[in-house]
Order: sequence, then structure tokens, then C-alpha cells
Amino acid sequence: MKALVAVKRVVDYNATILVKADGSGIDTNNLKFSINPFDEVAVEEAVRLKEAGMVSEIVVVSIGPAQAQDTLRNALAMGGDRAILVTVDGDVEPLAVAKLLRAVVESEKPDLVILGKQAIDGDCNQTGQMLAALLGWPQGTFASALAFKDGELNVIREIDSGNETVSLQLPAVITADLRLNTPRYVSLPNIMKAKKKPLATTTPATLGVDVAARQRVLKVEPPAKRKAGIKVGSVAELVAKLKNEAKVI
Ligand code: AMP
Repeated sequence: MKALVAVKRVVDYNATILVKADGSGIDTNNLKFSINPFDEVAVEEAVRLKEAGMVSEIVVVSIGPAQAQDTLRNALAMGGDRAILVTVDGDVEPLAVAKLLRAVVESEKPDLVILGKQAIDGDCNQTGQMLAALLGWPQGTFASALAFKDGELNVIREIDSGNETVSLQLPAVITADLRLNTPRYVSLPNIMKAKKKPLATTTPATLGVDVAARQRVLKVEPPAKRKAGIKVGSVAELVAKLKNEAKVI
């Protein structure tokens, strides 16, 4: 079984974000970029399936600038076998990402595609669902556990009413939730080995996909500043303030 994993280069979740003065977006100068955390979980799951003998090859794919090679090398150091970078400058909307991934799926013919449930920069949570629709494949979104049974893939999803198990026939699309696993740390020897693994590059034009934006961002603004808290002298004062000022009790 062949697995394809989509990994996005995003601003690191620990970075302090500054909005550009003209409100056109965020200032990415000097920001640290990392692999999207949900995609790290997706790679880890594919590597675990390979270690369990269920998967024979893991192809990792990213759509982004040349620097996304670092993201792909990270995924290769975790255990991916080879990588594909679709080089694009600037933001690409989920529908265009899904179309690019469909083109890669059509040439690579994987049995399983694993994505993160969402990219932490745009918080869209759309790509996996759109890819499944474009391919006409079943999807198991927000997966918190996977199990193969009688040739089908059981996906456990944490939903409001409890744990839902859906059974999918392969080929299928999975989107990974954080609880699916805890990604491994990459060791230095594996980082060195990853440098020698194959990394192919292609472009949207070669894949025949138009990545022009369909929507326009009107404005980006920072969240309102929170008011500083105050210290109260006693429990009685706290209760009085909660009752009379905040009116929450
Ligand atoms: P989104 O729909 O943007 O929240 O992204 C959901 C998932 O789609 C991510 O966790 C990635 O696995 C995948 N994805 C989105 N954008 C890209 C990209 N530019 N390159 C590779 N994978 C992506």
C-alpha cells in the first residue's frame, strides 16, 4: 500500500504574529516557519503504518515556495521515502491545493492520502474534504484512530456524541486530528539521511492547474488588546466583583 501525505509550511505556532500596517496580511519577515502540526501527525501515522508493515512507500507532498523543501526534508527525516514540491509563490487557496493534490494522486496512484485536519495559518479545514470530493473517494475526517479490518479502513472520529467509527474502502482520504498520535522527534542521523532522499519539484502549470485566487482578502487586523487584570484583596471582594461588576454569579 502506498501513502501520500500532504505537508504545509506554516508560520510556527510559537511565533509572535504582527499584522502589516496596511492591513494586507501578516508580516512574515524574520518569522520562524515549521511543518503544520496536524501534518506532522499525518506523517507520523503514515510512518507507523509503514513500521507495522501496512504501507510500503510514503510520498510527502508540499505546495509552497522553495523554502518548503525544509518542511519536506523534515517529513523525510520522520520516515517519508521521497518528496514532491509543487513550487508556488504566495498563498494558494484550498480548492487550488486540492486540485494540485488530485493531479499528484493521479500520477502517483496512492491507496491512502493523509492530510492534516487544518492548516494553522488559514484555519480553513477544507482541503482534505475537497480532495476527496474531486477524486470521488471516501473520506475519514478528524481521525483520532485508524485500524485496518477485513480489507477496510476503520476511522475513529471524536464527535459531540462520542467516538464515531466509519468504515472506508480504499483508496481513501484521511484528515488527522491531534489525538491520532504523538509525532516522534527527528534524530540527527535521520536528518542527515533525509538530505539524500529524492525530492522532485514540479509546477502548477506542469500539473495543468490554475491556482489563481477566487477570493479577495479585504482586511487583516490584530485582535483587540485585552484589558489588564486586577488583583483583589480577599475572596469576599472577588465574589462581590463577580456579582456586582461582572454580573456572572
Ligand atoms: P486547510 O484546508 O488549508 O486547513 O488545510 C488542511 C490540510 O491540507 C493541511 O493540514 C495539509 O495537510 C493540507 N494542505 C493545505 N495546504 C497545503 C499546502 N500548501 N501544501 C501541502 N499541503 C497542504
